[in-house]
Amino acid sequence: MSKQAEKARSERIEYGSHERFSPYGIMASYGLSAKKSLGQNFLNDMTVVRKIVDAANVGPEDLVLEVGPGLGVMTEVLAERAGYVAAIEIDRDLAPVLEPLCAAKTNAEVVFDDVMRVNIPRLISDIRTLRPELARVRVVANLPYYITTPIIMMFLEQNAGLFDSLTFMVQKEVAERLVSGPDGDAYGAISVAVAYYSNASICFTVPASCFVPRPKVDSAVVNLAIYKERPVEPRNAGHMFKLVKAAFAQRRKMLVNALSNAAYLGLSKDAVASGIAKLGLDPKVRGEALSVAEFAKLSDMLNN
Ligand code: SAM
Repeated sequence: MSKQAEKARSERIEYGSHERFSPYGIMASYGLSAKKSLGQNFLNDMTVVRKIVDAANVGPEDLVLEVGPGLGVMTEVLAERAGYVAAIEIDRDLAPVLEPLCAAKTNAEVVFDDVMRVNIPRLISDIRTLRPELARVRVVANLPYYITTPIIMMFLEQNAGLFDSLTFMVQKEVAERLVSGPDGDAYGAISVAVAYYSNASICFTVPASCFVPRPKVDSAVVNLAIYKERPVEPRNAGHMFKLVKAAFAQRRKMLVNALSNAAYLGLSKDAVASGIAKLGLDPKVRGEALSVAEFAKLSDMLNN
């Protein structure tokens, strides 16, 4: 690391009770600029960085996957607390920042790739072969906003069983959607998925002023504690999620119509109406009023 880069990285100012630094200073010392297309809004506040790592409950037995390390500021804190950190970054222009940072540690590596293309189970198993003491796996990320939902769904749908927790910073309104329950304004298909796989909560909000470039909206950190044994288990989760998809695709319609209109389900209106009746629900109920437990029961009834 050049002297200029080292100086930029270590220059911090007290700002109220917060410890601020300048990502622009770090970027300038490497001749970099933030790429909007990759959602590069960098944190400028060490207090927030540490709070995120605290919220993720990272400890020495943990293997942490960080998505989008950016300038590596959170990566450094993660490496101080975790057993091992694998940081997955799409932007190879950040190599001069991230490679020396990880090389200086015995417990951190950077993987330059699109997280959506990484073979996550293989990455975890390769690391654990060399470090069998890593008892838990956690994901910690200040997610790029342009691809938040696909990344969260990829971790949940394809890999939930591998993780103990997923801790994400996302836009505040996305955080509300993730943790929302039936009849909440923000309740949607992703809320059902989150409730199926995890016990989710919003840890704290982060004002837009804590990022550079400054985004238009505030953010929030959510913690998804992944269930080892799910409280709700339909016979066929794939079928349940097809119902969920159909229900929320036409969320203003009655559930009976939304489900019988979805050709890919192959359900008659009578069959759906009878399932809804057997659940003891109002025949005019909308999908947005059903909890994950009710979707599971309905799926079991309709998927005989
Ligand atoms: N962790 C840093 C921080 O908190 O300051 C940067 C967070 S910034 C919001 C998102 C980061 O994700 C950027 O570094 C961006 O290059 C990276 N990124 C964007 N799309 C990605 C993808 N598909 N796979 C991996 N990283 C990605």
